[in-house]
Amino acid sequence: MKKVAFYTLGCKLNYSETSAIARSFEQRGFKKVDFSDTPDIFVINTCSVTENADKKCKKIVKEARKISPDAFVAIIGCYAQLKPQEIASIEGVDAVLGAAEKFQLLDLLGTFERQKQTQVFHSDIREVAQMYCSSYSYGDRTRSFLKVQDGCNYNCSFCTIPLARGKSRSDTIANIVAQAQEIAQTEVKEVVLTGVNIGDFGIIEGKRQEKFVDLIKALDEIDGIERFRISSIEPNLLTNEIIEFVAQSKRFVPHFHIPLQSGSNKILKLMHRRYVRELYAERVKKIKSLMPHCCIGVDVIVGFPSETDEDFLETYHFLNDLDISYLHVFTYSERDNTPALQIAESVPMPKRNERSKMLHILSEKKRRYFYEQNIGRTATVLFEQDIQNGKMEGFTENYIRVVAKYDPLLINELKKVHLLEINAEGLVEVEEAEMQFA
Ligand code: SF4
Repeated sequence: MKKVAFYTLGCKLNYSETSAIARSFEQRGFKKVDFSDTPDIFVINTCSVTENADKKCKKIVKEARKISPDAFVAIIGCYAQLKPQEIASIEGVDAVLGAAEKFQLLDLLGTFERQKQTQVFHSDIREVAQMYCSSYSYGDRTRSFLKVQDGCNYNCSFCTIPLARGKSRSDTIANIVAQAQEIAQTEVKEVVLTGVNIGDFGIIEGKRQEKFVDLIKALDEIDGIERFRISSIEPNLLTNEIIEFVAQSKRFVPHFHIPLQSGSNKILKLMHRRYVRELYAERVKKIKSLMPHCCIGVDVIVGFPSETDEDFLETYHFLNDLDISYLHVFTYSERDNTPALQIAESVPMPKRNERSKMLHILSEKKRRYFYEQNIGRTATVLFEQDIQNGKMEGFTENYIRVVAKYDPLLINELKKVHLLEINAEGLVEVEEAEMQFA
């Protein structure tokens, strides 16, 4: 039995795809092992957004070669789609597979015999139109990432994802419900819906056929999954109908992650984003009017070309005034083949870093304030299996990280708790709602 190991860089979508590919290996009789367990085959799923993607890829290949000098090393994923020849020239790589070919890895590579020349399987991203089914991760028992959509038609001026993943396309609601029912048979309690632009869900065979809101309504009826979380959704696609449905849903939790990217309308326009800051503020207001304790996470990019100190401060004050819960801050970095490269005034790196630091501090302030607003409330926590110093952690439905004394009976369980106080590590201490933790 040949042993295969996987390594994933990047986003939740990549994790769900690695999981699906790993399952197809197991179905063909391969044994999935840890990276260090002398595998015969390594599959490395890369990301184009990760900083220093090339260096990271080289390092992982080198590490793989050290562990199993004669193993077969295959590189797949976004970076493989964007720079196949660059990756093929990395010493120790046996095969490079692009966005479409990664799912045919087993058929294309057959016996995984190493050859003199690196094999490259790659097609033009404009021709990648398939939506592959059964992409969900099932690793840590607690949570599963279910891919419902792939690709993006938006072409934001800083982003390489449409070049790496192609046009927006989705699986059907019927197929996704069937996959969710499969997950419901496992121990998984929470499913996170993932995709590149999930609000754009519903384009099947090139035509818009279904709607995201109908998908969540169908999933809400599935018994056996306690919670659904929407990973990230564009503000212009987050409709009142979606917000109102989540507010009264049985299983969709009060947590949205909404990319803003900039609080300056001038910069939003240069980014080719499809909304203005006023629309974003309206979305937040609508959510909070229906779900006052809803968690709202925000993506923001600092140092986009031509972002002046005034533009940045506009973003800073906009975020400071918004009722949001945390930020994911990204420092702009130049990417090949993106329209943003044409904007002449690039922001010096020290300035980008300084702005990033300011927003990180703001994020901590926002998170703490959000947590404070929840102290004294009762919430439901899904406890995870990691134990550290006799403590275990978990998340409430509205994404507050809590900590409790380790109890094996709590692992992967949903428990009603009282939120007591914020501890020195910034986590919320809890006690069980019915009974004190011993
Ligand atoms: S919406 Fe914009 S940032 Fe998001 S994947 Fe599409 S092009 Fe990239």
